Amino acid sequence: MRVPLADLRAQYTELKAEIDSGIAAVLESGNYIDGENVTRLENLVAELCGASYGIGVASGTDALVLSLVACGVKAGDEVITTPFTFGATTEAIALVGARAVYVDIDICTYNLDIARIESAVTDRTTAILPVDLFGQMADRTVLHEVALRHNLRVIADSAQAIGAKQLGRPVAADADATTLSFYPTKNLGACGDAGMVLTHDEELAARVRSLHAHGQSSYGYFERLGYCSRLDTLQAVILLAKLPQLEKWNLARRAHAALYNELLADCAIGLPGEEANNFHIYHQYTIRYADRDGLRNHLKSKGIDSKVFYPHAMHLQPAYAYLGYHQGDFPAAERAAREVLSIPIVPELTIEQIEYTAAQIRAYVGT
Ligand SMILES: *Cc1c(COP(=O)(O)O)cnc(C)c1O
Repeated sequence: MRVPLADLRAQYTELKAEIDSGIAAVLESGNYIDGENVTRLENLVAELCGASYGIGVASGTDALVLSLVACGVKAGDEVITTPFTFGATTEAIALVGARAVYVDIDICTYNLDIARIESAVTDRTTAILPVDLFGQMADRTVLHEVALRHNLRVIADSAQAIGAKQLGRPVAADADATTLSFYPTKNLGACGDAGMVLTHDEELAARVRSLHAHGQSSYGYFERLGYCSRLDTLQAVILLAKLPQLEKWNLARRAHAALYNELLADCAIGLPGEEANNFHIYHQYTIRYADRDGLRNHLKSKGIDSKVFYPHAMHLQPAYAYLGYHQGDFPAAERAAREVLSIPIVPELTIEQIEYTAAQIRAYVGT
């Protein structure tokens, strides 16, 4: 049996009529940048994520950079973040000239170990940048308490967590700025690059809107140094066609995760931890096993795709060697990088594929 990690054509096929007619309408209209489709998407996504404002931008990475700039994070500032994430998180901090200060993760959820944040605060810290990794929100309660005590901005990287909740509150309910990515493999994926910044703060929203269009505050008036970072109208209509399906797709991922949890309950691997207050949307279903590469090869030989998110912790990457961290500084993140394996969890999976995958994991692990 073949079990692919993702089948990006499946969602297109499911929604082909709507996507094709949406694209044709944009092509016929002659309006390819901004316009009512982008505005509609911004409003719908902001509402879904519990924010007052949404600003479409060119990618999730740009959403981070523009949020940092709009929050006033500048050269020489320190930003507390996680060493176990996709490279864009640290990259955005570095691109604005600030310094990433890492705090180790919780090995069960792979998110920032919130209890360690406060001891990393210095008089140069201006922001905390948590990542809602694999679809589960990092703990917001303590994080916001620390931010309030030290007057720090919170920018949440929710690229992997659109639709997730904590204590019933969606991703953008509390942070100063929250960023999304619509990279094709994300839970809500475009057919190209796109992203969004979400916020409650009217002034911050205006700054991001200005930054995403060359720093203009009105047409032809360049108030600040900006970026060229728009969300294409074509991507907006594709995302508008997919958005009504997102809840169904996220629930399918959760059902698949529950089935994996049941089938692998007493197997000698680490299962993804879902915290009691969290509504995890399983962007990835990530297991942990000491002989991870052996397990991965076994699954491959049985037709099952898997991938390592992420093979190297950020503090050990050549690009960020200048930060001065060393092997051993963040043991949980380093252990995760050695042991994690993400197995197929996309909505289109069948029960048979999940049962087969679980059986092959058990066959290799030997329980
Ligand atoms: C995908 C992703 C990004 C970057 O998004 P792009 O749209 O690819 O620029 C940033 N952070 C995390 C955690 C991601 O998963």
